[in-house]
Amino acid sequence: MSSGRRITREKKTIAAMMAIYCSDHHGARSGLCDGCASLLDHAERRLDTCPFQEEKPVCKACEVHCYAPTRRERVREVMRYAGPRMLWPHPILSLGHILDKWRPVPKLKTRKRAVD
Ligand SMILES: [Zn+2]
Repeated sequence: MSSGRRITREKKTIAAMMAIYCSDHHGARSGLCDGCASLLDHAERRLDTCPFQEEKPVCKACEVHCYAPTRRERVREVMRYAGPRMLWPHPILSLGHILDKWRPVPKLKTRKRAVD
């Protein structure tokens, strides 16, 4: 499955956030620790199956709860921690993410839950 620009950028954003979070919390010097690597892998697969794709709202505003509850909590923690901290190392990604918050949130016509 080839990703559109929006999903590709979203993947870069979450990968950058995970890297910041992991190096500060788990001391990973290069790349991610095993736990974060598997969480990132999960997040990327969720993005591949996101029903909105190029119309995707920021995850926070989305009505589809595509993460399993335990993972959702961890991803939220990563975003909360790394969001404000990635402005300096990743100004373009951060700006994109800020702009995305102003997008209208689309409604799903047919509810389809992604299966893990
Ligand atoms: Zn980690």
